[in-house]
Amino acid sequence: MANRTFLSRKLSSNTYVITGPGSDCYLLEGEDEAIMIDAGEAEENIRDYAQTLTDKPVKAVINTHSHFDHTGGNGYFDVIYGTEGIARSAKNCMGADDTKYPLDYKFTIVNDGTVIPLKGRPLRVILLDCHAPGNIAILDETNRMLFPGDEVESGQVLLLPGYAEEMGQIHARHASSVETYHRAMLKLKQFEDCYDMIYPGHNGTPIVKEYLDTYIELAEKIMAGYEGIRDCTSRTYSTTDTHYPYDNANYRRGELKGASLIYCQDLIFDRDYEKADAFPPATPLHVICSKLARQ
Ligand SMILES: [Zn+2]
Repeated sequence: MANRTFLSRKLSSNTYVITGPGSDCYLLEGEDEAIMIDAGEAEENIRDYAQTLTDKPVKAVINTHSHFDHTGGNGYFDVIYGTEGIARSAKNCMGADDTKYPLDYKFTIVNDGTVIPLKGRPLRVILLDCHAPGNIAILDETNRMLFPGDEVESGQVLLLPGYAEEMGQIHARHASSVETYHRAMLKLKQFEDCYDMIYPGHNGTPIVKEYLDTYIELAEKIMAGYEGIRDCTSRTYSTTDTHYPYDNANYRRGELKGASLIYCQDLIFDRDYEKADAFPPATPLHVICSKLARQ
């Protein structure tokens, strides 16, 4: 019977995108095995589905970041690569029913510059650390592909606080400043001669590499005083998505050439971190976390 949970599309001779609940996920075939980038949020076994697409064994997944729409399927894999920042909050189910997912797994820790040795297409880890703590991009120089998770995409990039690491905790970390994000994008730009297209976690794939320049320009505009609109709701996510900032938190949507950045108006520059602890909660995360604490 045809699988009704997942769909896939072949992006190149050795790469697929798999769509289903949660983020877009990628299947990268190497010479002797295939590795996935992100695990989605389906309760069904995404590894089994990926295995129907390739005759190379699928054993490992790399998480671009800790959000549960990228990590929910981790427990189906033998090896899960992620940074320390990812490992800390990857099992926070963000309101999903945690009894429906295999969560008894351990991370293999990677860092900035780590090369994951997929034979025939080594995968370089580039730490960006803005959209979520420990967020990485994966560079496949052999096939000239960049997988930035949710740090660059055609819809919107969210600079919101990281999800809680421990029960009862409100936020893992305050949001990234626009200046921090700008620096991360300049870091990514150093690699622009190594890839042709960008393969994000949401809102369509692939996208042209010029999106990176748009986000750099947008961050510079915001730092120069351009103020985005207060309406941070998304045209591309559900209106009930709990990812979005409370009205009383001082968030804005800055837009440029179809790209947009959701950022905290009080966290433009790195020096603003000093006052960040006094900000109101930006998302309903504390509701989720207090629910967890009662269990
Ligand atoms: Zn995310």
